[in-house]
Amino acid sequence: MDRPAVIVKTAAELRVPPHWRDYQRERQQDPWAAARRDLQLDPQGPMNMAVLAVDRHLQQGLADKTALRFVARNAPALDMSYGTLAQQTNRLANVLQALGVAPGDHLFVLAGRLPALYVAVLGALKAGVVVTPLFSAFGPEPIATRMQLGQARLLVTTDILYRQKIRALRAQLPTLQHVLLVNPDGQLTTEPDTLDWTTVMAGASDHFTPAPTTADSPALLHFTSGTTGTPKGALHVHGAAITHYATGRHALDLHPQDRFWCTADPGWVTGTSYGILAPLLHGVTSLVDREEFDAERWYTLLQDERISVWYTAPTAIRLLMKAGPELAQRHQFPDLRFIASVGEPLNPEAVWWGKEVLGLPIHDNWWQTETGGIMVANTPAFDIKPGAMGRPLPGIDAYLVTQLQAPGEAPRVRVLDAPEAQGELALRAGWPSMFRGYLNNEARYQQCFADGLYLTGDLVRRDAEGYYWFVGRLDDVIKSAGHLIGPFEVESVLMEHPAVAEAGVIGKPDALVGETVKAFVSLKNGYLPDEALRSDLQAHARKRLGAAVAPKEIAFLPTLPRTRSGKIMRRLLKARELGLPEGDTSTLEAGA
Ligand code: ATP
Ligand code: MG
Repeated sequence: MDRPAVIVKTAAELRVPPHWRDYQRERQQDPWAAARRDLQLDPQGPMNMAVLAVDRHLQQGLADKTALRFVARNAPALDMSYGTLAQQTNRLANVLQALGVAPGDHLFVLAGRLPALYVAVLGALKAGVVVTPLFSAFGPEPIATRMQLGQARLLVTTDILYRQKIRALRAQLPTLQHVLLVNPDGQLTTEPDTLDWTTVMAGASDHFTPAPTTADSPALLHFTSGTTGTPKGALHVHGAAITHYATGRHALDLHPQDRFWCTADPGWVTGTSYGILAPLLHGVTSLVDREEFDAERWYTLLQDERISVWYTAPTAIRLLMKAGPELAQRHQFPDLRFIASVGEPLNPEAVWWGKEVLGLPIHDNWWQTETGGIMVANTPAFDIKPGAMGRPLPGIDAYLVTQLQAPGEAPRVRVLDAPEAQGELALRAGWPSMFRGYLNNEARYQQCFADGLYLTGDLVRRDAEGYYWFVGRLDDVIKSAGHLIGPFEVESVLMEHPAVAEAGVIGKPDALVGETVKAFVSLKNGYLPDEALRSDLQAHARKRLGAAVAPKEIAFLPTLPRTRSGKIMRRLLKARELGLPEGDTSTLEAGA
């Protein structure tokens, strides 16, 4: 379908005046200084992200405001106020102190999206303890690897998860001293060598003097998604809250009256930076859904919970698209005013789907576990170019570079200035939420920097108006007969076809042209994977992309292999295609 290249912001869409409108002017301000002012921070003074996110609001009369609203299928909704969250997190911090846990020790949390998870993360941060939330659907192997690497001293988990996944592992976790068991049914836990959460919390004081952390104190250890290989542990500091706050304003446009829903699990960095910290820093009410994805349920939640700002992921959007527009049309979203997405490239088709089916376009934004917060975004402040990941946020200086060094040498780069340049995305190092190390891998950390720039490993194009377009991960780019082909462009064109639900594109080695383009496609309900459809898809791709870029081969799969966080794993499609070992698949979702 022919659609305009730009979605112009209209007054109807901007139901609430956004915090900012003038991109150039805002970029001349210092957003970090502004955030410090709003958060009443002394740059040289103490800083603790949990105190800023929770306790700070008590002085501003927000003690009774709902901070987190938990919903589940078979339980009544539970509203936790800022006041209760402050008390509960103080209790946990006291419990940790009484156990002899010291600032800098590592605590892991393995739980579904229960209130205790949020209390554990924020309470541990108050005590200066470094926190890692783990995705609760991980099996024992990925849990053990991460806890060993992170030298976990404490674990907060549930009774059931402990029995299913941890008990048998304890001998392999020599650093693990304390396990706190939450029993959502309210019963006392009786597992040997564990402590009962309810009991220890009941005996702890509501008052706590936060650990003397500063902006540079370690706060969170997050593991990457493992899309390109073994997940890396990225270490973040308390100062990251400055970015969380500033981007909550610039990229998500959070206002105090918002009802916000970030659908990511806190086991991934999005679920912590934007599912816990950013909304709390802004004093808004966040929804936490304890259930897994379900299209009907999600539309009902958006409607009944009167969500105004929604932050989700392409994988969820693709599933909603697959479920068909009728389901969406049975609901109404009068409160919804801003939708954003992160995690993978968002095909233009999905941006338009938002506009046509939900009444609002979807704002793609880009960041990584390593960046700790949103760096490049489509924002309420400027028009959207569907398919672009947006423009660098205020405070973020982005460059396109090409790496010059031979393998093994320290990185050196050349900055590419040409209009319409294409190169590796690099960011001027030093924004507040930049990671401060890869766990146990200083050499790899150093390899990420050159000439004061952080090298992201993603290939992008920048257009004349300063919008950035994702081309592909450096490792995924296809080289065919002298052309550089970005898988995202090919996938987006395939997604335009009404039959296609998902597409993953790889380069297949070829003696003549280097690599040929091969596409894997899963179909929407009601379409059959037959030769007629294959030819139709091929013809559509050739017409839109030209014969050199269109896939030479198209294979149908019921679903595409994904990481646990929902990203399409091109490396696995390629490994399967070539009959190679699949490498570390510990983060894999059961896929095709
Ligand atoms: P690993 O580093 O272990 O291979 P990962 O890179 O997928 O896994 P994350 O930090 O969760 O781990 O993901 C960040 C990456 O996701 C980015 O570098 C980019 O490749 C991709 N990504 C995130 N958001 C977008 C977006 N809006 N458009 C395109 N790609 C995106
Ligand atoms: Mg990565």
